[in-house]
Amino acid sequence: MSSIDANALVFTEAAGLELGTVDVADPAVGEVRVRLRASGVCHSDLHVVTGDWKMPSPMVLGHEGAGVIESVGPGVDPSRIGERVILSWFAPCLRCEYCVSGRQWACRDTQANKCVMADGTTRLRQDGHAVHAYLNVGSFAEYAVVPETGAIAVPDELPFEVAALIGCGATTGIGAALHTAQVPPGSSAIVVGCGGVGLSVVMGLAVSGAYPIIAVDMSDEKLEAARAVGATHVVNAREHDPVDACIEETHGGANFVFEAAGRVDTAEQCVAMTRAAGTTVLVGMPTRGARLPLDVLDVALNGKTIIGCSYGSANASLTFPMLADLYLAGKLPLDELIGSRIGLADVSAAFDEMRQGKGLRAVVTY
Ligand SMILES: [Zn+2]
Ligand SMILES: [Zn+2]
Repeated sequence: MSSIDANALVFTEAAGLELGTVDVADPAVGEVRVRLRASGVCHSDLHVVTGDWKMPSPMVLGHEGAGVIESVGPGVDPSRIGERVILSWFAPCLRCEYCVSGRQWACRDTQANKCVMADGTTRLRQDGHAVHAYLNVGSFAEYAVVPETGAIAVPDELPFEVAALIGCGATTGIGAALHTAQVPPGSSAIVVGCGGVGLSVVMGLAVSGAYPIIAVDMSDEKLEAARAVGATHVVNAREHDPVDACIEETHGGANFVFEAAGRVDTAEQCVAMTRAAGTTVLVGMPTRGARLPLDVLDVALNGKTIIGCSYGSANASLTFPMLADLYLAGKLPLDELIGSRIGLADVSAAFDEMRQGKGLRAVVTY
């Protein structure tokens, strides 16, 4: 084995996104090198580009990736070479209190947030400088070296584009309904924000047997997509006050309301649309420091619950294969999330569309 060159989109604060070549090292102890085949473009990548979320630089962004294990480091079973894998952006330590109690999404000792491997270094270099990989994934490159615990095997029949979406948006949204909120059949539900995550929440609610499932967005294109994946009602927030419309439709608010736009004003609306004794689930990720003005009397008097949701409260090693099986069985229309298949050079344009709230998920294919 030896290090290899890979085309990559490298982000620096000074120059923004630049297409170039990075040197990808051999996998070290407990690591695998993956040849990427697809990577979704997610809003959490945009948060870094805009400076909302401070991250180390230079860095290869992309954290919604799928590919094939090409080589393994010491201590990793060589039979894993050739496995089709989805990359988790929160590779768990498997030892901390959260991991051992089945809540890997909250792992305390993962190095993913620091964008370095377990030994504190990176596996990517460019012009002699260390390059970080976003959340230990860095899927806007042809190759990635990741912790073995962050490369989850899935069936070979699962298309790479769909696999990539399970790596972040689909798991976050579907998991919000199935794992975080554990929505019982017959519950009324509202989803505010119909990007990749919001549409995935709608799919999760459909699997749960929720009714009605009301989707709210400002784009008719996205609302149409929401109908295609299971929304029973849609509200265009440009044309109607979404709080009034949803409270009327549900006769007083929904049992479960999901915020998937990552905004403070919509979060406030979500709490208002939540029925007494109901639950507001905060799924969308806002700018760091965003504060929610809360009607405390409404929450207390009506016994409302507000819960946060990170990565769909998933244990990736269980949830990724489960979602793959549901997709392959025809029970999750994940293809509907994909708006366009693009190359690395088109990622900047995909971010522009995202800023304008236009288009469905763009997926880079290699
Ligand atoms: Zn994401
Ligand atoms: Zn852990």
